[in-house]
Amino acid sequence: MKVAVIGTGYVGLVTGTCLAESGNDLACVDNNAAKIDMLNGGGLPIYEPGLQELVARNRKEGRLTFTTDLTAAVQSARLIFIAVGTPQSDQGDADLGAVWAVTKAIAAALKSLPPGPAGSRVVVTKSTVPVGTNAAVAKILAEHGCPHVDVASNPEFLKEGAAIEDFMKPDRVVVGVRQPEVGEVLRELYAPFLRTERPFLTMTPESAEMTKYAANAMLATKISFINEMANLCDRVGADINDVRRGIGHDQRIGFQFLFPGPGYGGSCFPKDIRAILGMGRRVQLPLDLMQAVDDVNESQKQVLAQKIIAHFGPDLAGKTFAVWGLAFKPRTDDIREAPALVLIDRLLAAGAAVRTHDPEAMANVKAIYGDKISYSDRPYGALEGADALVIVTEWPEFRNPDFEVMKRLLKSPVIFDGRNIYDQKAMESHGFEYYAIGRGQR
Ligand code: NAD
Repeated sequence: MKVAVIGTGYVGLVTGTCLAESGNDLACVDNNAAKIDMLNGGGLPIYEPGLQELVARNRKEGRLTFTTDLTAAVQSARLIFIAVGTPQSDQGDADLGAVWAVTKAIAAALKSLPPGPAGSRVVVTKSTVPVGTNAAVAKILAEHGCPHVDVASNPEFLKEGAAIEDFMKPDRVVVGVRQPEVGEVLRELYAPFLRTERPFLTMTPESAEMTKYAANAMLATKISFINEMANLCDRVGADINDVRRGIGHDQRIGFQFLFPGPGYGGSCFPKDIRAILGMGRRVQLPLDLMQAVDDVNESQKQVLAQKIIAHFGPDLAGKTFAVWGLAFKPRTDDIREAPALVLIDRLLAAGAAVRTHDPEAMANVKAIYGDKISYSDRPYGALEGADALVIVTEWPEFRNPDFEVMKRLLKSPVIFDGRNIYDQKAMESHGFEYYAIGRGQR
């Protein structure tokens, strides 16, 4: 099938590449010419495990192209995916500026083409958008000369760091359509990914839009829940790791998204929770639980700094902190809303120097902080002369380091572990002062 994907970011690039891998003819479009040049030169603008090989193979076999020419890509496509960003607006809800701009550009490209039967040309919204957006996209298309173009909602549930796997083997595919014929086109497109009896769920566009927000709301709620329990454990002398296991084995609860940490970040949960709050505001419905999830998370981003200050005192002038892990989670270079950035700001404001290491995200962090902090290619390099190590993201390579080398490099053997990756007793026997999250110390 001929497919165009507009927006070649984390979601668009993965979607386009995986659809090409299953034999479709893909044109990936972006208005960022530097990004398209990089992709056409064989580079990748993002880090995502396994993506490089797939992009290279599908480009070589001629199924995957990158362009800034939206008009040409859209005119020859049967399916046109919108995968542009929907970041948080100044008011807190979703900024749909890019979605509207792309919808109008699609209409301008298609209006002169002859109409076909239902399902012959479909604009599919993959971006996460508030309820009502697909209806508005259909209205804009109609008003701009394309009443014959169909619209579908197809929210994306992939997670960065495992995006290829998630796209190739989704738990389910959700599609919001008004005509069954349009649903059938998407069922055909997704059939290769659903061969293990995974469900293809069709519903109205409104329900599909809401499904995406409800999924992220549930996951963010689990994280804020376990973080609140961890903070209570710290105060009352319980160990969240035991508690986590104690509840995770309960099949009604499960283990996923029950790891305490320095707050969730990334490009989705924070903005999507605020977009839900925005939807509630618009219909005068206070969403107290979602507000609490957001509030707990904002406080949680301060938890590592609070532990550091409790140990070293409020004035950190002359102190140096090594920070391991800058991306909002392992296996991505995405630093949007990353807790590490909140920590770095707080350390700098208190007069400390910061030495960082991250396997993939350092270039993105450097673009923000420049020479205000230092960057080390290797984890141990960041430790040299530091008063303490702070672990913010649990990259696998941090799990089994040489603790003797670490002790030699650090000025004092102090670790603040925001992800509970080490065993507390083992750390004490190695001679570290070890602070974790919810393990019974303030
Ligand atoms: P991103 O910022 O990585 O990518 C968006 C891309 O759209 C950028 O490359 C940008 O240059 C391009 N773009 C913006 N305006 C454009 C225009 N007018 N014409 C052409 N291209 C344009 O964003 P992302 O993380 O890929 O997210 C995209 C959408 O998918 C968002 O709505 C997000 O909420 C949703 N989503 C993201 C994830 C995730 O893990 N990142 C998961 C599921 C859903």
